[in-house]
Amino acid sequence: MTTPPIGDYGFEAFLGEEKLMGSTCCRCRVTFVPPRPLCAECHHTEMQWTRMKGSGTLVALTSISIGPPAMQEEGFNRKNPYCTGVVKLDEGSGIVARIVGVDARNPDSIGIGLTVTAVFLHRGEGEDRTTQLTFRPVSADDIK
Ligand SMILES: [Zn+2]
Repeated sequence: MTTPPIGDYGFEAFLGEEKLMGSTCCRCRVTFVPPRPLCAECHHTEMQWTRMKGSGTLVALTSISIGPPAMQEEGFNRKNPYCTGVVKLDEGSGIVARIVGVDARNPDSIGIGLTVTAVFLHRGEGEDRTTQLTFRPVSADDIK
């Protein structure tokens, strides 16, 4: 893949290659995930792609019973909810993503502060192929 311009399209293209990418400001070195084409700290426009390790800490969580149509089509509903959370990446940025490998019916059982790692869920084939960024607990011991 040729390096795409910094933005949502490039972010998703890299997810397809199982790479979680952010953008780093060439002036002040702050990193943004998802990537920003303009630095929110110093407004510099020269940014470069930076690969994240894909590990972090779960800092907030919600269980969703009534999701968007795409999630309903996957079978999620009031009886089968799913979790979305905020993950603070080891590099410092926070990102919102689906949390897998947890009991969404019992969100109180999911501890804030869990160590999580990125899981790339691929769907479809060819041009219809999409990749969803999710995170799962690193250790089964983290699931109480
Ligand atoms: Zn900057």
